[in-house]
Amino acid sequence: MINKNIYLILFSLLLFVSCTKEVKEITRPIEQTDAIFQYSTMIDLVNGKFEGTLTQAEYKSHGDFGIGTYNGVNGEMVYYEGIPYRVSFEGPVVVPPTDYLIPFANTKFFVADSSFSVNVVTDDDTLKNNLLTTLLANDKPAAIKISGQFTYLKTRSVPKQSPPYGSIYDVIAQQNTFDLPNSTGTIVGFWMPEKLNNLNFPGYHFHYLNSDFTAGGHVLEFELKSGTVEIDFASEVIVQLID
Ligand SMILES: [Zn+2]
Repeated sequence: MINKNIYLILFSLLLFVSCTKEVKEITRPIEQTDAIFQYSTMIDLVNGKFEGTLTQAEYKSHGDFGIGTYNGVNGEMVYYEGIPYRVSFEGPVVVPPTDYLIPFANTKFFVADSSFSVNVVTDDDTLKNNLLTTLLANDKPAAIKISGQFTYLKTRSVPKQSPPYGSIYDVIAQQNTFDLPNSTGTIVGFWMPEKLNNLNFPGYHFHYLNSDFTAGGHVLEFELKSGTVEIDFASEVIVQLID
């Protein structure tokens, strides 16, 4: 009986190992990790650590998809298909100079673990609630991509700060909001489980970039007309602390 149980456990382990390996080989190039890379922490950002030493080159070496900001909280970063964009406080989207440093950001090599289509007009609360069942069942941090046609988005950006820095909440109070009706583009973002609270903001954090690269920002509201939702769960989170 004991031997039989041992064999069963061994067999289950082998099956698990072989399945895991097979999935990874098929979906992800071996040089790309399945980790979410994070620079700094939520607490440091909240407490006004707005000057980082992370270069864009180093940031890009950890993923091809992500969100963040630039030193001084100089706008909203949308890292889309390997290019970091900056949605400025005034609204225009620019590719920032390569010497712009980063005080807080996340990135991941995005390879979807699951996806589904949306073909009826769906508001953000409904979509987030629908996603939550899958996210909570897994309870791992996830990168989320929502691409398609939006009937409406409300986004924001924030103005560059000068020392001495206050809290991130003081910066958000100065936000500039943008109404984007009938926009085609991509929401780039993450969902963090409650257990990572203080390391990152628990729940959803979405940034948006339209397909013309002319508008976007931190997402406050949206309504999706039709599109695709993709989820990429992370096996680990690698945190580099701000200097
Ligand atoms: Zn944001």
